[in-house]
Amino acid sequence: MGRTSKDKRDVYYRLAKENGWRARSAFKLLQLDEEFQLFQGVTRAVDLCAAPGSWSQVLSQKIGGQGSGHVVAVDLQAMAPLPGVLQIQGDITQLSTAKEIIQHFEGCPADLVVCDGAPDVTGLHDVDEYMQAQLLLAALNIATHVLKPGGCFVAKIFRGRDVTLIYSQLRVFFSSVLCAKPRSSRNSSIEAFAVCKGYDPPEGFLPDLTKPLLDHSYDPHFNQLDGPTRIIVPFVTCGDLSAYDSDRSYPLDLEDGSEYKYTPPTQPPISPPYQEACALKKKGQLAKEICPQDCPMSTVDMLPQ
Ligand code: SAM
Repeated sequence: MGRTSKDKRDVYYRLAKENGWRARSAFKLLQLDEEFQLFQGVTRAVDLCAAPGSWSQVLSQKIGGQGSGHVVAVDLQAMAPLPGVLQIQGDITQLSTAKEIIQHFEGCPADLVVCDGAPDVTGLHDVDEYMQAQLLLAALNIATHVLKPGGCFVAKIFRGRDVTLIYSQLRVFFSSVLCAKPRSSRNSSIEAFAVCKGYDPPEGFLPDLTKPLLDHSYDPHFNQLDGPTRIIVPFVTCGDLSAYDSDRSYPLDLEDGSEYKYTPPTQPPISPPYQEACALKKKGQLAKEICPQDCPMSTVDMLPQ
């Protein structure tokens, strides 16, 4: 693939580089804010599953906090530093990470918790939806410890079969829950964002980290809610209708007359998982043909040697 073909196929990828964002996801958060004024009055925020950091960039530029620590960014992967953003490298489903985040907000709660977490997609829809839901629940658990009353929670959600169960759980804690699809999120993707406003836990609720973050006794039959427990939340598309359509390919010279000039990525990944494979490929060691005597057919071993 030529280095300009992704620019042509994905206009938000190209615009992200031109505008200095580390990832195209920045536009999703910007378009969600356009619709829901997420950043109004916000001075302290948590960005869960933050790498490579475009949401943290948006947060640190848009919210009124001062100094390091008004944005706390957490991810499994290492992230290049950003001014004013305190980074924690860890798994948000792990107690130790949750504790580290919560510690930071003791006595000074957050106004906003966002989570753009995505598992490594397997292509098995039920598994992917389950993993995504677990990330969201881990994020919600952390949010219940750090959010101030009235605070806001925004999280990526896969609109799969059991999504109404998640909406019901979110409605327990927030006065308003809706599902939003920014223009920069492809229609072909089941991804959307749960936008939850007005943090208002039930009376007597005590956030409790001793309960497991993940529910391993997940029962798909139990999750088929009906009657009054079945909650259908409003679905809102957001982002200016004149904004670019993320499912379309655009010519490299855009309609506004601006001339195409290749822009390298704002922040190349610092230790991508494919690094080792690239190094092996350079040395010609990525694929090695093996043909043992007793093997009826030639086999190509694609694993690094
Ligand atoms: N919002 C980010 C941005 O704007 O740059 C992009 C986030 S990317 C779509 C999803 C991230 O979720 C990945 O960086 C991945 O490492 C992270 N992630 C997935 N599972 C996680 C977990 N259990 N704990 C922490 N981060 C996780």
